[in-house]
This record gives sequence, structure tokens and C-alpha cells, in this order.
Amino acid sequence: MLHAIVAGGGIGGLATALALANNGHRVTVLERQDVFTEVGAGIQIAPNGFHALNLLGVGAAVRERAVLVDELRLLDALTGERLVVMPVGERYRARFGEPYAVVHRRDLHGPLLRACQNIADVDLVKGAAVREFTQDADRVTVTTTDGRTFTGDLLVGADGIRSTVRAQLLDDGPLRPCGHTIYRTLVPMERVPQRLRRNAVTLWAGPGWHIVHYPVAGGEQLNLAAVLDDGATEAVAGRPTAHETVLSRFPDLDPTPGELLRLGEDWREWVLCDRDPVDVWTRDRVTLMGDAAHPMLQYAAQGACQALEDAVVLGDVLANAPAGDVTDRLAKYEESRRERAGRVQLLAREMGTELYHPAGEQARARDAMLRPLTEDDLHDKVSWLHATPVGAGA
Ligand SMILES: Cc1cc2nc3c(=O)[nH]c(=O)nc-3n(C[C@H](O)[C@H](O)[C@H](O)COP(=O)(O)OP(=O)(O)OC[C@H]3O[C@@H](n4cnc5c(N)ncnc54)[C@H](O)[C@@H]3O)c2cc1C
Repeated sequence: MLHAIVAGGGIGGLATALALANNGHRVTVLERQDVFTEVGAGIQIAPNGFHALNLLGVGAAVRERAVLVDELRLLDALTGERLVVMPVGERYRARFGEPYAVVHRRDLHGPLLRACQNIADVDLVKGAAVREFTQDADRVTVTTTDGRTFTGDLLVGADGIRSTVRAQLLDDGPLRPCGHTIYRTLVPMERVPQRLRRNAVTLWAGPGWHIVHYPVAGGEQLNLAAVLDDGATEAVAGRPTAHETVLSRFPDLDPTPGELLRLGEDWREWVLCDRDPVDVWTRDRVTLMGDAAHPMLQYAAQGACQALEDAVVLGDVLANAPAGDVTDRLAKYEESRRERAGRVQLLAREMGTELYHPAGEQARARDAMLRPLTEDDLHDKVSWLHATPVGAGA
């Protein structure tokens, strides 16, 4: 049995703890916050994410509060024209083996947390902010900002987009702000007029901006996000924003997204960042996963799904590993995840600029490319991403 230390108790860190514990290892999760929780609103989970959740043993629990949507819709935000609709109902589910669903973040984090709490070999330590690590041929020692030390056979940095473990491991400089501000809120569904409710992820694409909405929390709330390419350079995470500010930044909307935007209250604002893919994110007994390893923009709706895939692969490669094999096994994990995760990082960027935000001639070229696509064409396009690449049955 190995003793793994996991820095960060978000979706990725808890999934890693579960994957390692399910394979017979002892895990200590160090979370800097005083509570294990998820802030933020909705999250989309594609079949590859559900496949990983099933392998971790929490797929059914996540499905309980998930909304299985019927369509992913892209519309013109100025004219209301429908540009492309990808059905994700029966045929899609039959092809990919799992649904496309939307959940509140706590309905993904919660089942992972409860599963970890039920395993004696998972120690969840709150208020433990990792400051640095040292490693030698046999062990890794992690020191927290309050001076505590934790020693194990390996360290997984699951400490998110501003990872302390990554900073020490790779020292690869600041994040790349993409210049987009995102405003997010949740609207109680009873405030949404019936005619505006759809069992779908709907994205309204405008020139340099877009609005996206979908039901979450078992359909009790509408997740609403409005994104603007405003050249923002200062990283912002969850800053409260006035309703009037949000409305003033999206003035030319088609009546439907305009009406939805006016329903918003308690807006919060983020400025999004990512990094280029890297060739190496492991050194000996220390590796990275999730946003710490491959931080990506949210436009492909895959950051959490990729983190779940990482966790499953980590569990698989470390199954039955003697302590002397950790270095080789972690290298194998990185090798099997690097190309796919890097591809998704680049796809997410491309979707923002080429699919959601083009203007004028570029928008017309996009529309002409999208209009003839059939349901099968669309499913073929996402197949490399939504199909199940990891674990048993892959
Ligand atoms: C607006 C938006 C929408 C998104 N939509 C989707 C979507 O639809 N589908 C999808 O799959 N993904 C989506 N994502 C991406 C997804 O949220 C992330 O990829 C995912 O949360 C990454 O999980 P993580 O555990 O790697 O990092 P995090 O969720 O950031 O968790 C990191 C954890 O580490 C802790 N931590 C940080 N530093 C330390 C430290 N030094 N010591 C100890 N603990 C530390 C943090 O407190 C936190 O709990 C979206 C992201 C954004 C911003």
C-alpha cells in the first residue's frame, strides 16, 4: 500500500483520492480552505466524464441531481437565428454509452466528498494550504503554510489553476489571461417564464461575446453566464458585480437572451486564464492533475471531465504499485494523459474565438460551415472527446 498526498480537495483532488483508495492505497488530502466545498454554478458533464465517474463509483449519485439535456444549441444572439443544434438524446446516449448532463457543482463535488468520507484510508485535512515540497529517492515531504509536514510515497498537485505545486515543479511563469470576462448567476426556475425554459444547453453567439444557459440542480435553477471579449488582463475570480453593469455590457441582444439576462441577480465576475500545453508535468514522485496540469478555458466544457479522466488513469497506473515503482508509474500516467489533455486545452481556446465570438465575414463563414451538418456529422465531430478513453471498457 502506498501513501499518497493530494494537494487540493476540489473535484480533481477528491476524484484522485477516490481512485487511489479504490486501488488499495492510503491518501491524505490537504485542502487550504476550512471546508471542503465548491463555489460557482453549473457544470456540463459529457459522457467521458460520466464514464470516469462510474469507474470511480459515484456515477449513479451524480446522475441523481443531474439534468440530462436533449440538445446543445447554438443561436445567433443578434437575430435569434438557429445556427446549429446537436441532439444529445437517445441516439447520442446509445452511441456514447452515457448522457450529456448539466449539474450544479456541489452535486458533483458532494458525491465525491461523501465517497471519500466513507473510506477509512482517506484522510481529509481542512485548513492545510500547501506551501512547498521536498523529495528524495524514497519519499515526498509536503509543508503547509502553518508549518505542518506530511510525508508520503508520492504527491499529486490537484491544487487548481493557480497551483503552488506546479509553481515549484515547473516554474513556468504566470497564467495567460484570455481577455474575456465572464458574468455568472443562478436564477430560480420559477422566475423563468415557461416559454423560455428548455431542456438544453443554449448558447447565443454574438460578435465578441456570448450568453449560455442551462438548467441545473435537478431543474430547480437556471445557470446563466454572459461572456465578453473585453481584453481584460487582471485575473478576477468570483467578484460580485452589479446587475446594471452586466446589462450595460450586452446592449444589442435578441429579445430572448435579453429577457433571460434581465432575470439575473447576484452576478459574479471572473476573468478567464489558461496555459499552453506542456510536455512535462511530473518529476519523480510528484505529479500534477486537473487544472494544475492542464488549465483550460471553459469553452469546451471539459476541465472537470479531463480532471476525472486524470484521476481514473492515476488510479489504474498505481494499482498494485510497489513504492519503488512510483516514479515509473507516474511517468506512465503523464504519458497517457498529456496529448489528449493538451488537445482539449487548444480546442477550448479555438471554440471561443472561432465558434462563439466571430463577427462579420468570419461569422458568416462559421454559419455556412455549421448549417449543413447533420446529427451524425456533429456526433462524429465530438466523438474523440465524448467517447470513453480511460479505464475498463475503453
Ligand atoms: C466559468 C467556468 C465554467 C466551467 N464549466 C465547465 C464545464 O461545463 N464542464 C467541465 O468539465 N469543466 C468546466 N469548467 C472547468 C472546471 O471547473 C475545472 O476544470 C475543475 O474545477 C478543475 O478541478 P481541479 O480540482 O483541478 O481544480 P479546482 O476546482 O480549482 O480545485 C483546486 C482545489 O485546491 C485547493 N487549493 C488551491 N491551492 C491550494 C494549496 N496551496 N494547498 C491546498 N489546497 C489548495 C482549492 O481551494 C480547491 O479546493 C469550468 C470552469 C469555469 C471557470
